[in-house]
Amino acid sequence: MAVGLVAFPIARRVHVDWKDSKLPTPKVRFRLVTHQSLDDARRLVEDSASVVVITGAGISTASGIPDFRGPEGVWTKDPNAERLSNIDVFTSSAEVRKASWQQLLARQERPAQPNPAHRALVDFESTGKLEAIVTQNIDGLHVAAGSDPNLVIEVHGNTRMTRCLQCETETPTNLILERVRAGDLDPRCDEHVGSAICGGILKTIVVSFGQPLPRLEFARAEYLAKTCELLICVGSTLMVRPVSDLVPKSLSRGARLLIINAEATPFDDDADVVVRGDIPKVLGAVLGTPVTN
Ligand code: NAD
Repeated sequence: MAVGLVAFPIARRVHVDWKDSKLPTPKVRFRLVTHQSLDDARRLVEDSASVVVITGAGISTASGIPDFRGPEGVWTKDPNAERLSNIDVFTSSAEVRKASWQQLLARQERPAQPNPAHRALVDFESTGKLEAIVTQNIDGLHVAAGSDPNLVIEVHGNTRMTRCLQCETETPTNLILERVRAGDLDPRCDEHVGSAICGGILKTIVVSFGQPLPRLEFARAEYLAKTCELLICVGSTLMVRPVSDLVPKSLSRGARLLIINAEATPFDDDADVVVRGDIPKVLGAVLGTPVTN
């Protein structure tokens, strides 16, 4: 069965229909990073033979990509923007699709660069402990930083590939963006289906709310989260299911939990250690792979 992407309110850790959910802005509890929490976190990593890292939008804010729900988040500043991440809105509005292609075009012209947190995870590979980076991000920055692509599981897809919602043909997004740049503002699938042109709506393989997650990738992420010794959640409010479900699943199999985020998450009380702080500054120190640039 396909696993659908949904978000849930922080106060009720239950499954709710995305369309009906009203997401409160999480309470910001900025705390100073204490040496105690950094030392405890570092010890957890040292004592663990296998580590799975879940990353969210917060690992990429230092690369200039805003998150959704942080204090400077896209949805925090404009709650109406939330609806643009829904598949029904994308399929029913040519204006939304046009805006989305223009946004991709702008990002292609000024690509974001990985930051020290992405690079700290690259360096951590040399310990041999890293089983996977399960990322909710669609920005491709883990691989751009040099992470082994086989270790990066993009459970919410990416913008590199585009798929026709009708015939499911996949095309590199760069080729579609060439058409957009040439004036085809709401490009449609130009595959031949029999003697006709398909004409279906095109969309990157980013998973929108209401769409299923890639089944095999998510199954692999779930298996690794259930079998690792330590789960580290970095830069996520842990409010988007089914990724957030990996946390209790991992805990129930005996894994330890380390959360690194500027704000409270629904799982802080279950964590062995919570580190509040600026991710590019603290992640390297926690992993024992400090990156200075
Ligand atoms: P989120 O927006 O819900 O939460 C991000 C969290 O990171 C917030 O709690 C914020 O306070 C924290 N944060 C931001 N910058 C930080 C920093 N420098 N140091 C410490 N903490 C920091 O993000 P989410 O949980 O990943 O879920 C949002 C959804 O949005 C996901 O489905 C994801 O695919 C998508 N998204 C992706 C990107 C991206 O690819 N870069 C960007 C925005 C949203």
